[in-house]
Amino acid sequence: MTKAVTKVEELRPLSQAMRALRRDIHAHPELAFEENRTAAIVAKELAGYGIDVHTGLAKTGVVGTLRAGKGMRSIGLRADMDALPMQEHNHFEHRSRNDGKMHACGHDGHTAMLLGAARYLASTRRFDGVVNFIFQPAEEGLGGARAMIDDGLFDRFPCQAVFGMHNRPSLDIGRFAVRSGPMMAGGAFFDIRVTGKGAHGARPETSVDAALVAAQIAVSLQSIVSRNVAPVDTAVLSVTRIHAGDAYNVIPQTAELGGTVRAFSSEVMQLVERSMKRVAQATAAAFGATAEVDFRLLFSPTVNNPVEAEFAARICAELVGQDKVERSPPLIMASEDFSFMLEQVPGCYLNIGNGLAEGGCEVHNPAYDFNDRALPLGAAFFARAVEAKLALA
Ligand SMILES: [Zn+2]
Ligand SMILES: [Zn+2]
Repeated sequence: MTKAVTKVEELRPLSQAMRALRRDIHAHPELAFEENRTAAIVAKELAGYGIDVHTGLAKTGVVGTLRAGKGMRSIGLRADMDALPMQEHNHFEHRSRNDGKMHACGHDGHTAMLLGAARYLASTRRFDGVVNFIFQPAEEGLGGARAMIDDGLFDRFPCQAVFGMHNRPSLDIGRFAVRSGPMMAGGAFFDIRVTGKGAHGARPETSVDAALVAAQIAVSLQSIVSRNVAPVDTAVLSVTRIHAGDAYNVIPQTAELGGTVRAFSSEVMQLVERSMKRVAQATAAAFGATAEVDFRLLFSPTVNNPVEAEFAARICAELVGQDKVERSPPLIMASEDFSFMLEQVPGCYLNIGNGLAEGGCEVHNPAYDFNDRALPLGAAFFARAVEAKLALA
C-alpha cells in the first residue's frame, strides 16, 4: 500500500462533482432541522461511495462511517447543512428556488467539500482506523450540534479528534487561518425581571419604583466588564432592551431588561453570569425590590485544542505552503456551535479562504455565494488530516 501523500491536485478530478452538488444544494436551501432533501443527498452520496450511513441523528443529521484496516484510532470531520431565513439577491443559475431561504453562510460548500473528501477517502483508503463524517443540521442558532451530541453522536461514533471548517470571505482563495485556543466568542442572552410596588405617579412614597431600579441595574451591569473581568480578557455585556410602564401617571410595578453577553472563555462567561445575578439582585434589594435573572448560554466559546490546532496548521501548510496559513487571525465576536463538539472532543475549527472575487461579500449578505474554487482545497484538508491522524504504519 502506498503511503499517504494527498495533495490538492488529487482532489481536482472531483471538483466538477463537488461543484454540481454544491450548486444543487445552494439552489434548494433548507432551514434548521428541515434539511430533509439535503440529508437525503448526503446519505445517497455516502452510500454510493461505499460508506456506512446513519441517518436521523438530531432529526436530519447524517453520519457516515468509513473504516480502513483494523486500527482503533478514529477521527470526526464535521460539516453544517442548514440555510438562513432570508431572500437571495443573486441572479445566477444556481440561485435559491426556495423563497425566503438562502445558503448565505456557505454551508452548501461545507457539505459539498466534506462529501468530496469522503468520496476520495473511500476510493483511496490510505489510512488505518475509522473516519466519521458528521453532517450537522441547524448550525444557525438552533442548536444542531448540541442536539446531535444529546442524540449520542460521540457515544455511537467515538472520535479521538474532531475537525470543522468555515469559509471566510475576506481571506484569499488558497489561504487558511488557524488559531490555537479561543477563536470565536460564546454567546448568551439574558432577561432580568424587576418587581417593585406600583403606585400613583404623584405618590412615589407609596411605591417601590421598578423603572428606577431597572435603570440602576442597567448602569451597574456596566461595571462587570470594566471591574470584574480582567483587562486582558475580552467580554461584551450589552443591555439591548428595557421595558417598564404604560401610563404617564402610574409608577410601574414591574420592569424588564434584556440583552446579550459575549466572551471567549467559559470561565469569563460564568463570571459575568454570577456577577450579573449578584448585581441585579443586590441592586434591587437596595431599593426594596426583587430581581429575577434568566441567563441562557446559546453558544459556548469556540476554543481550539492547542495540539490539534498545531496539527491542522501543519496539514494546511503541507497543502498550500506555510506563508498561506495565517496563525494569528483576529478573534471573531460571532459564535459557532461546533464549540459544543470541541467541549466533548479535542479538535480544531479553522477558516478557509473564500476569496474576494466571487462571493466577495460577507456571509449572511443577500449577495453572498460560496466560492467553488475552495472546494478541492477544503476536501484536501479533510483527506490529508485523516491520512496523517490515522497514518499507515
Ligand atoms: Zn452563518
Ligand atoms: Zn456558517
